[in-house]
Amino acid sequence: GGESKLQLLRSHIRAFPDFPKKGIVFRDICPILKDAAVLKAVIDLFEEHVRNSHQHVDLIVGLDARGFLFGPLLAQRLGVGFVLVRKKGKLPGPTVSVAYDLEYGKAEAEMQADAVAPGQKVLLIDDLLATGGTLKAACDLMRKMQAEVLGCMVVIELKELNGIDKVQPHNVFSLVQY
Ligand code: AMP
Repeated sequence: GGESKLQLLRSHIRAFPDFPKKGIVFRDICPILKDAAVLKAVIDLFEEHVRNSHQHVDLIVGLDARGFLFGPLLAQRLGVGFVLVRKKGKLPGPTVSVAYDLEYGKAEAEMQADAVAPGQKVLLIDDLLATGGTLKAACDLMRKMQAEVLGCMVVIELKELNGIDKVQPHNVFSLVQY
């Protein structure tokens, strides 16, 4: 059932203290991907959530870079397409972008201008919610493209950083919380 899938998932997330710098506990999802049964369980859980929560989804939108690992698999399950939000400068052709603040300096999230049509219903996916800055930028980008954000999904939520508050009014669904 869902609970044993969550157990399996939890046991395949590794913590690396002080990576990439002192004070950060990096949550490593590589062991999930390495095990076919665990990766399948993760996609099962996301699929179940989407089917229970949303009548109609047009596209899954994945965030650079680990959103690209889960998003296409989920999109295939749902029988919908997958599109990419990337860091600036990676996508060819006309693009739409939004700037956002990082801990030090600024970044830009970018998407191909024809990736999402106005009114399309989208679900955003990434591996992890920390401060919420990245998902908020992606939501801002969706608004700029006049897409309808149904919600956001992550494998892991770091609760003490209150990323949920930053992303609201959009909902963030997570499988594992720390
Ligand atoms: P944020 O914008 O602060 O919510 O950060 C989210 C992005 O940074 C996600 O794409 C994560 O992949 C990455 N990230 C932030 N904190 C961690 C962490 N402790 N472990 C692994 N990845 C992280």
